[in-house]
Amino acid sequence: MAEVIVVGGGLGGLANAALCARRGHKVRLLERSKSLGGRGKSTVVEAATLNLGPHALYLKALGWPVLQKLGIQPRGKRPPNTGKVLLNGNLEELPGDPLSLLRTGALTHKGRLSLSLFLSTLPLSRPSGTVSTWLAPLPEDARRLVLALVRVSTYCNAPDLMDAGFAADQLWAALAGGVMYLDGGWGQLVEALAGVAEAAGVQIQVGQSVEKVEEGKVFLEDGSRLSADHVVVATPPEAARRMGLPWPEGIVVRAACLDLVLSAQPKPENRFVLGLDSPVYLSEHTGVAALGPHHVVHVAKYLAPSEGIEGVEEELEALANLALPDWQKLLLAKKWRGALPVFSYLPQAGQARPDIQVAPGLWRVGDGVGPTGMLLDASLASAAAVAEKIG
Ligand SMILES: Cc1cc2nc3c(=O)[nH]c(=O)nc-3n(C[C@H](O)[C@H](O)[C@H](O)COP(=O)(O)OP(=O)(O)OC[C@H]3O[C@@H](n4cnc5c(N)ncnc54)[C@H](O)[C@@H]3O)c2cc1C
Repeated sequence: MAEVIVVGGGLGGLANAALCARRGHKVRLLERSKSLGGRGKSTVVEAATLNLGPHALYLKALGWPVLQKLGIQPRGKRPPNTGKVLLNGNLEELPGDPLSLLRTGALTHKGRLSLSLFLSTLPLSRPSGTVSTWLAPLPEDARRLVLALVRVSTYCNAPDLMDAGFAADQLWAALAGGVMYLDGGWGQLVEALAGVAEAAGVQIQVGQSVEKVEEGKVFLEDGSRLSADHVVVATPPEAARRMGLPWPEGIVVRAACLDLVLSAQPKPENRFVLGLDSPVYLSEHTGVAALGPHHVVHVAKYLAPSEGIEGVEEELEALANLALPDWQKLLLAKKWRGALPVFSYLPQAGQARPDIQVAPGLWRVGDGVGPTGMLLDASLASAAAVAEKIG
């Protein structure tokens, strides 16, 4: 039995702590904030549950089997694949099924054929190079639609930099496996993982900020020092660097988020809107997931690397004006989140992501770690890989 200290009580740290404890290790988890969950936290505003921006759990990606292994069965529903696309300031039908593919004004006849062929061959080979080079052979209208689907499934708005293989994997996970909006928001996952960790004997301490880590040692804010056989750092890269952990530079993927609580839904047919000529998104998560008595609408912009957010709140409000007329009159609460760090490492063509192991007994867990997966799936996959290596 080894002694393990996990730094960071987000979903990745909680999963790693639970898995290590289940393997019989003595585990202590230290979280800086007063509550667990990190970017997976949900809050209750006007009796409605809000995630930190729009969150959807991938059903056939790397994280799902990790949750299953811990006995966690997420509760929620898959959103329908109907909705609208935004093009030239108008809302057109989202080509989410064969009928709407024929009807939508967002595609020409040639674009429809190219898109159908592209999607049917998507799982057959993994592309290399960047997203831009991968999609270059498609006609303009089909390329615009695939780029929007890549944005919504990966959160990345950097086609000239992003690795096409990662984009294709994630797009396929979204189209073939689908996603789930969770009842009670992602707080459901936080509670479930914390419950499993505690039941397995993990000693969880919140409000404990770690100042520095070394092999076998953790230094706390109050000057005290803890020792362990293994130290697992499950924080975003910036926080890890501040603790002295080497972490190669990468591009943080960000989104600007506006979360709304409305007393009614003014236009149910516009409950989902995806921008084709602008990188924006609007989705009502209530109705799919149980989030309280009101209507929770997430509006977001996928930010390009180093893009600022001046004027973005107004841009997202304009999208809400178009899709949900008079929403301001129905407004119960509005949370402008600014630019949020969605995941830590834009997968770039030809650039490897940091490994889980830093040194003997010193490990990384997170959504930018390890060779595979994106978003929460990369966090959970790295959490499981580290637990396995610890033994
Ligand atoms: C707007 C938005 C939308 C998203 N949508 C999706 C989605 O649809 N699907 C999906 O799969 N993923 C999505 N994600 C990503 C997902 O939320 C993250 O990948 C996941 O929550 C990361 O978990 P983590 O535990 O690795 O990191 P974090 O959640 O960042 O947790 C790290 C923890 O470490 C703690 N910490 C930091 N420094 C210290 C210190 N010095 N000492 C102790 N503790 C410390 C922090 O307080 C935090 O609790 C989204 C993220 C955002 C922001």
